[in-house]
Amino acid sequence: MSDVYAEPTTGTFQDGPAALARYTTLRLGGPAARLETATSAAEIVQKVQEAEARDERVLILSGGSNVVIGDQGFPGTVVLIRSRGFQVIAEDPDTVTVRVEAGERWDDLVAATIERGWSGLECLSGVPGSAGATPIQNVGAYGQEVAETITAVEAYDRTHGEIVRIAAADCGFAYRGSIFKYSDRWVVLSVDFRLARSPLSTPVRYAELARALGVEVGDRVPLADARATVLRLRAGKGMVLDADDPDTWSVGSFFTNPVLEREAYELLRERAADLGEPPSWPGAGDVVKISAAWLIDKAGFGKGHPGPEGVAISSKHTLALTNRSGTAHTAALIALAREIRDAVHDRFAVTLHPEPVLINCTI
Ligand SMILES: Cc1cc2nc3c(=O)[nH]c(=O)nc-3n(C[C@H](O)[C@H](O)[C@H](O)COP(=O)(O)OP(=O)(O)OC[C@H]3O[C@@H](n4cnc5c(N)ncnc54)[C@H](O)[C@@H]3O)c2cc1C
Repeated sequence: MSDVYAEPTTGTFQDGPAALARYTTLRLGGPAARLETATSAAEIVQKVQEAEARDERVLILSGGSNVVIGDQGFPGTVVLIRSRGFQVIAEDPDTVTVRVEAGERWDDLVAATIERGWSGLECLSGVPGSAGATPIQNVGAYGQEVAETITAVEAYDRTHGEIVRIAAADCGFAYRGSIFKYSDRWVVLSVDFRLARSPLSTPVRYAELARALGVEVGDRVPLADARATVLRLRAGKGMVLDADDPDTWSVGSFFTNPVLEREAYELLRERAADLGEPPSWPGAGDVVKISAAWLIDKAGFGKGHPGPEGVAISSKHTLALTNRSGTAHTAALIALAREIRDAVHDRFAVTLHPEPVLINCTI
């Protein structure tokens, strides 16, 4: 399994060794005007302030697993977040609260909490990237979201030039979103998670995971079993980074699952009448969440569907767009994403939105 997060990805890139492609799981992205590495919260703030003093744009880059960077690269300072570690800041007989440095590798943290018998992150095993990026899009998988365990985020507020603590209730957590996503204002320095002291997982909510564990939805299982099963399920879908598996050279899901008002949902059902019932989940209020993978597949883009320059839909998961040649340009990936988005819209009148943050490129 590769650690593209801690070290630059190795390989031959279309744009040469200076390219930001080395720091992204898609292996895409042109050069940065300036690249700085920050290994502590103080250094992160310092590097950002220095770039601001030079009147340069700033891009915060951690694991590079949720960004699509354009072929032109970034015309400013890229600050690579490489602060590490976590500490217990509060505990009682039932819970423990840990403060995690932004650059801590997420899956290392999850593994460490499971070893210690702390419950709450186990279903998020195998998600690439850093702890500090998890609040950005409220990372979620297999029925858990970080919004359930985050109590506060410490961030550098670039608007006011000060370090602030933002309580979870003020983070605006939503499905794959928060106040931090698409905003340059906050640089996350550390994140506090409150976890239960328990050898058992939180109740399993995701039907596929329950089936794989041989339990009912709502049951709890030993933490290590939850982790092992999630990792196995994810690996089968190319959702665990693997340097030898081009199906994982992606940003995970490229599109979010569309959330439709009731009227739009009924329109979709009409348009899809010949295809059976579109898979859906009830959303908050009178909205319905639809499977983006189903829409893409039914619009004619199956697993492995090729695009230009050797980009392709993953052969293991319809939602992942991959740079499987390892030498493509961002423009090629974007071309494939556009083709899919437009075809889904033509067929179902539903607009797909990208899940990753697009930098100096757009679909
Ligand atoms: C194979 C694969 C599977 C994935 N599976 C999932 C999944 O199951 N669920 C899920 O939710 N996501 C998933 N993802 C997406 C991704 O792993 C997560 O979104 C992750 O949290 C991104 O972390 P990162 O450190 O790589 O962020 P980056 O890609 O470096 O950055 C993403 C965005 O956050 C910003 N950012 C990063 N760090 C900070 C910081 N400290 N302060 C302020 N802004 C910051 C960046 O500027 C950028 O806008 C997957 C990705 C891949 C490649």
